[in-house]
Amino acid sequence: MHEFWSHCIAHFARTLNAQQLNTWIKPLAMEVSSKQILINAPNRFVAQWVREKFLLDFDLLAREYFDTPPAIHLAISDTRTQANQPEQTPPTNSPINPKKSDPLPVTEPEAGLSEPIRHTKSSKQEKPSPLDESRLNPLFNFDTFVPGKANDLARAAALQVADNPGAGYNPLFVYGGVGLGKTHLVQAIGNRMVQINPKARVRYIHADRYVSDVVRAVRTNSYDDFKHRYNTLDLLLIDDIQFFAGKEGTQQQFFYTFNTLIEEHKQVIITSDTFPKNMEGIEERLKSRFSWGLTVMLEPPELEMRVAILLDKARIEKASIDEGTAFFIAKQVRSNVRELEGALKRVIAYARFSKLPISIELAKEALKDLLAVQNRQISIENIQKTVADYFKIKVADMYSKKRTRVLARPRQMAMYLARELTNLSYPEIGLSFGGRDHTTVLHACAKIEELKASDQIMRKDYNLLIQVLTG
Ligand code: ADP
Ligand code: MG
Repeated sequence: MHEFWSHCIAHFARTLNAQQLNTWIKPLAMEVSSKQILINAPNRFVAQWVREKFLLDFDLLAREYFDTPPAIHLAISDTRTQANQPEQTPPTNSPINPKKSDPLPVTEPEAGLSEPIRHTKSSKQEKPSPLDESRLNPLFNFDTFVPGKANDLARAAALQVADNPGAGYNPLFVYGGVGLGKTHLVQAIGNRMVQINPKARVRYIHADRYVSDVVRAVRTNSYDDFKHRYNTLDLLLIDDIQFFAGKEGTQQQFFYTFNTLIEEHKQVIITSDTFPKNMEGIEERLKSRFSWGLTVMLEPPELEMRVAILLDKARIEKASIDEGTAFFIAKQVRSNVRELEGALKRVIAYARFSKLPISIELAKEALKDLLAVQNRQISIENIQKTVADYFKIKVADMYSKKRTRVLARPRQMAMYLARELTNLSYPEIGLSFGGRDHTTVLHACAKIEELKASDQIMRKDYNLLIQVLTG
């Protein structure tokens, strides 16, 4: 299997659900040469769908992967149905090797197209590389993990563990909300460990899969195999362990594996959506063991980090985006990194289709639906009322001409928040504050920006208000 194809599969495994992956991507076969990438679809339907939905992704991936990306061609291999029937025929029947150096058909696939497919099939029988066995996604590494305040400690701990597995922080327990980078970070540890020591036995497994593994071992009476598979690892990564809740058999099983590994100074890394002590449906003895090592948290990224992530992802996707636009997108999407990525992807796709450079205008257009939902939630009236309540002044004072400090500051704060949380322009905001001039709004925003940096109380007010307003 060509490495680029594995690279693509890893990408789609992240971005699609299992059913989409199995329906649209797995049935494809890919033949890569320096001149072209030929993607074979088993039928017209899949080909059409792939062309519409995924060709752009393949294109982005190729640009990212190759220095000089070969042109991508999509073809239909009608021979696939035939190839499926004589499954019993040994693959050696077909002269794969002599054909390999033949020039590849460019567009209209003839019978010869079954060659690349069979080639791919036969290479599947090769022993999986250690990386495959580990089930790590090579794209989740430390180089692609953007550092920031929100992941400072977690990232430092992860690096420590990768360089000295089993030595100190054992287990390493990483927790945090959805889409904040738990899976990325712990896989980065695995990838780095394999990189340093290619012989290391590493296994990444989602808790759900682990549960099925246990069930299968019990059902097929292959418990020894199971034990051997897990107890001989150098690094075990269990993702989303909250899925163990209420599954007593699995927990008991995991308890033994955990103890064996820790006793032998093998590294265990666990992720969860909650702090160990607060997990529900998990045995006490497990919970207490989870806190033996080091527990670190991933927090939602702050604005600057969201911008850094956007700029970084855009660079990887070879899309050019200026800081202003990155700020614009980062302000709209605050919840987590996964959604931030999704928004960026939409903007990039939109720019490629419309053949326009990425700008704030274009981002607004591309993210229209998303912004519409948010704007409905956070109206300027809502901001004015919330800020007035918070500072214990009247809403009417937001529009009044009075300029005493007790009123002016909250008003300025409300203007600043309106600028951050809505898509209204300076003049529009001015209008909503009793018909003030746009320069007044500009001045207010500059003032709050400055106070936020210098005045701790102001910063606290701001953070609280943002939290209240964005829920
Ligand atoms: P979780 O497992 O916490 O739900 P993931 O690890 O799946 O989150 O992260 C969601 C997406 O966000 C992934 O595509 C991941 O690469 C990306 N991501 C998260 N944190 C970062 C970061 N600090 N730098 C770059 N990408 C990140
Ligand atoms: Mg995850």
